[in-house]
Amino acid sequence: MTARILVVDDIPANVRLLEVRLLAEYFEVLTATNGPDAIETCENGKVDVVLLDVMMPDMDGFEVCRRLKSDPATSHIPIVMITALDQVSDRVRGLDAGADDFLTKPVNDLQLMTRVKSLVRLKTLTDELRLRASTTRNIGIEELLSRNFAAEDTMPKVLLIDERQSSFERIQKMLRGSADLDIATDPHAGFFQAAETPYECVMISTAFSDFDPLRLCSQLRSLDRTRFLPIILLAEQGEEGRLVRGLELGINDYLMRPIDQQELTARLRTQIRRKRYNDQLRASVTQTIEMAVTDGLTGLHNRRYLDSHLQTLFDRAVARRRPLSVMITDLDRFKAINDAHGHDGGDDVLREFARRLRKNVRGIDLACRFGGEEFVVVMPDTDGVVAERVAERIRAEIAQLPFAVGSEGETIEVTVSVGVSSVLKGVDTVAGLMKRADLALYEAKSGGRNRVVAKAA
Ligand SMILES: [Mg+2]
Repeated sequence: MTARILVVDDIPANVRLLEVRLLAEYFEVLTATNGPDAIETCENGKVDVVLLDVMMPDMDGFEVCRRLKSDPATSHIPIVMITALDQVSDRVRGLDAGADDFLTKPVNDLQLMTRVKSLVRLKTLTDELRLRASTTRNIGIEELLSRNFAAEDTMPKVLLIDERQSSFERIQKMLRGSADLDIATDPHAGFFQAAETPYECVMISTAFSDFDPLRLCSQLRSLDRTRFLPIILLAEQGEEGRLVRGLELGINDYLMRPIDQQELTARLRTQIRRKRYNDQLRASVTQTIEMAVTDGLTGLHNRRYLDSHLQTLFDRAVARRRPLSVMITDLDRFKAINDAHGHDGGDDVLREFARRLRKNVRGIDLACRFGGEEFVVVMPDTDGVVAERVAERIRAEIAQLPFAVGSEGETIEVTVSVGVSSVLKGVDTVAGLMKRADLALYEAKSGGRNRVVAKAA
């Protein structure tokens, strides 16, 4: 795993110390000896993780952290605060300032690598989501990224897999009031429970009498539903080797026994906060992609989606020597409807038309709003004869039953003209197919409207 780490400390010897250790693990290292330089580096360069000393003259680590976290351009960069030994109040202050994690001086090698690797992995995921979000021009993304998640904290649902009663009872007591905790004493049952319940974090004890806890970690990582579920390992002193293996398998964090309550709640909170952030980011990306290809008014696909998929459907039909037909429908005298009933009335008609259209096509058909009052349906595996029949059914269903407009119960008669074309054997193109459908539509209009015209194949 390669990543760029920024080390910030006012004492050059401390910077060197961390730099050497990170270089030994093949990380790329940037350095800064004061807050303003650190902020500038984050703004300019591609920094994946910041290791930030708390005690610095002029601008201390808390202030640097606050500034980085309040700027949308840098707020997604994970920050590890490096505090003096056993300054519990510093840790709490650091988390309040938005730090993602903390380490105590002197920095233990295993802890350093665990935190850094876990954060790099998280950053990679976040970067990908951010990239996808900006590719689809999500205007809500900056707002989402700068949101303070602490404000909307709800009790997280957490699973503890631990077979020792004395241990899980102690943890239960420690997390009372800060987590909704379930216990699984059997690791196999625990795995299924984790897969079937929407937990936000799973904690796994390493102390099983007859089971390898790392097997559980690797199983959770390989299952789609638990791939992004944070895992915290609760380890015994002297289990460093096992932790390193766990880290390679993708555990997110660990605690050494005896477990300190404050550290437990802080680490859990950090994992939950990250998970919620990424979940929101992922949901936002999905929603944005859907919005980008959906017509907001009717819920049908939009023209952009049609443009990107018609060629694929066309190529597939030609390659498989299967028929493919297209219909273009246009509501008759739609301008008059808008004039008489306003745009809201027009929108009512478009929505209802889309509903009837959708009802009459199959799941594999691609129905989209082409623009204005024009709709296109692409019908794979459908020859011209069948397509014309489908078009006629739609035309009839539109003309038969009047459309409701407004909330007063008023109804109006609506009719539609339809042009149908099919892929020709031999040489044909998407442009030719669409042009013939358009021509057919024109004939339907000029022939008196409320009719279907099909271009014979
Ligand atoms: Mg210092």
